[in-house]
Formats: sequence, C-alpha cells, structure tokens
Amino acid sequence: MDIMPNRMDRGYYMYQREFEEKALEVLRSGWYVLGKEVASFEEEFAAYVGAKYCVGLASGLDALWLAFRILGIGAGDEVIVQGNTYIASVMGITINGAAPVFVEPDEHFGMDPERIEALITPRTKAVLVTHLYGMASRMDKICAICRKHGLRLVEDCAQSHGARFNGRMTGTFGDIGCFSFYPSKNLGAFGDAGAVVVNDEQLARDFRMYRNYGSEKRYYNKVVGANSRLDELQAGLLRVRLSHLEELTEEKVRISQRYTRELRNDRIQLPELAENATGVWHQYVIRCEERDRLMDYLKQQGIGTIIHYPIPPHLSEAYAYLGMKEGDLPITEHLAKTVLSIPIYNGMTQQEQTAVIEAINAFV
Ligand SMILES: *Cc1c(COP(=O)(O)O)cnc(C)c1O
Repeated sequence: MDIMPNRMDRGYYMYQREFEEKALEVLRSGWYVLGKEVASFEEEFAAYVGAKYCVGLASGLDALWLAFRILGIGAGDEVIVQGNTYIASVMGITINGAAPVFVEPDEHFGMDPERIEALITPRTKAVLVTHLYGMASRMDKICAICRKHGLRLVEDCAQSHGARFNGRMTGTFGDIGCFSFYPSKNLGAFGDAGAVVVNDEQLARDFRMYRNYGSEKRYYNKVVGANSRLDELQAGLLRVRLSHLEELTEEKVRISQRYTRELRNDRIQLPELAENATGVWHQYVIRCEERDRLMDYLKQQGIGTIIHYPIPPHLSEAYAYLGMKEGDLPITEHLAKTVLSIPIYNGMTQQEQTAVIEAINAFV
C-alpha cells in the first residue's frame, strides 16, 4: 500500500456534489471577483473564528505583508518572530523593509514566551506568532508581554484554523489574524486564497482598500495598494468546506489521537500540546535523532513523509543578507534536523493509519 503525505483529492470527494454545484453556480452567475460569495464567506468565517471582521485576500503571504504594511511597520523597525516558522511569515515582515528578530521555540513547536523579552529593543514594534502545525501557541504569556511593552501582535494562522487557546480561537488574540487557504491547509481552497480577521473597523477598511489597488471608491486611489482580491469561485468553494470544517477537524483530531495512543518507539518523540491549547493537526510532527534514516525507511515501506522545514528561514539563501550562521538558533536548527511530518489527512482510512503506525513502530 502506497501512502502519500497528503491526499487533497479525498477532501474533495467527501463533498464532491456540493463543491461541483457551487462551482457551477458561480460560473453561471457572471460575477467573478469580490461579489456575494466573498461577502458571505467573510461573514461566515469571521463568525466561525469569533472576530468582528474578515477580509478575503489572494494568499496567506499577502495577509502577512499587508498586515505589517497597514500597521505602519517597515524600515528601521524590528518584529520578533519564531525561528522555526515557514519562511512566508518572515517574508511578511521583510517585504516591508522591517527586520526579523528570531526567537527560539518551546517544546510544543510554538514561540517560547520565556525568551521574548530579552530580544525587545527600542526598535521592536510587533510580535508575529505562528501556530505551527495547527498547535495553538501559549497566548496568555505572549499577549501579556505585548501589552506590557506596547507591541503589536500579529498571528500567522495559516496552519491553525479552529485551534484554540483557553477556549478562544487563534487569530483573535492579536491585532490581526492572518490565514491562508492554500489547498493543503485545514481549510483549503482549490487554488490560492487567504484572509485576515480583525476586530477593529478601521483595520478592516484598510485591508479592503489595500487589496483593491488602494481604492475605496473606484478609480480614487488613496495609497499604493495591491491586487489581492479573493475571487468568487474560491470564496464559494471555501464556504462549502467551512460548513464542514468542524467535522473535518474532528476527523484529524481522531487520527492524531490514534497516533498518540498507538505509536510506540523509543527512537521517536511524539508532539505534545501546550497546557490549555488545542490542535487541529495540520501536520502530525514526530521527532527522531535519525530522522533521515527513518524517512528513507518509511519511503521503502511505501509511506511518504515531509520535513517542515528542512532549512530554517535564518539559514536560507534568501536571508543571507541578515548575516546569520549555523549555531545562532540551536533549538530551531536541531528541529530542522529531527522533525518529520507523517501522513495525516481527511479521508485517511483506518488501514492507512494502521500501516503508518506499524511501520514506525517496527523501525529499529
Ligand atoms: C502556508 C503558510 C503561509 C503562506 O500562505 P500562502 O497562502 O501559501 O501564501 C504562511 N505561513 C505559514 C505558517 C504557512 O503554513
């Protein structure tokens, strides 16, 4: 049996009829950009997350860089971001000319609140938290630090749709919650898509303006904006998936629980949520000192896995200009050498789960 790390087709076939009916409805409507599907999705997603406003955008990266642009954070400013995030988080900061200041993660792959304050300087303007792998970060401590130092707080929720800390959904703790609906995400579109959620009306207005060439009124351009509009087809399809998101999340939680119960191998460390945090299991990430050998072994058994992520942003070529080197973030770098995401996806069969468990347990 060949098992791939992810199977996006399964999530489509689960609701095939609904997706196809919605696609036809939008195609036949004659209205394709910023229409009633986008408006309805924004309303429904804001309600789901528990925020006042949602603004649909073209991608998760756009959500991130527009967030810092709108907060006025750019050249000369610093933003604290965790070292072990996806590089898009860092690009959201540096596209605006601001400097990323990397903080090491805690035992739960999240930003380590104990290490933030030592990095704050007079130039620090914001903290960007990533709820990596769909595991909520320790927001009580992080929010308290931001309040104490007057820092903006932006959340990268590209992997954490529906994950909670202390009962509250990720994306609602800071000034701006940034989401991606890239097809592989927990709430995935069928192409690129993203959004922000905010409680502040002015911020919502700014995002609507920036996504549409900086105009609130047609052909009156107030700022140099972007073309980052969510299209009607993606919004319509996202509404279908959102209406099933709770059951889709429950399914991933059940698979994660089975893994945590049945995976048993001294060479492997399982992921653990922080206290008061929930996970939506965008990835199920195990750790192994002999990760590359484990990955090869699983490949020989027909089981595909992925490393999220093999090169931490501070060591990537794109950020060579920061002048950082191996050894600067030892915890982050060690994770990059030891993490492995094993298959977890909606529509994963019991037999597939069993095959993954048996193969990993038999690794010597
Ligand atoms: C996917 C992802 C992004 C970027 O989203 P896109 O829609 O691909 O631009 C940003 N941050 C994290 C943590 C992600 O996983």
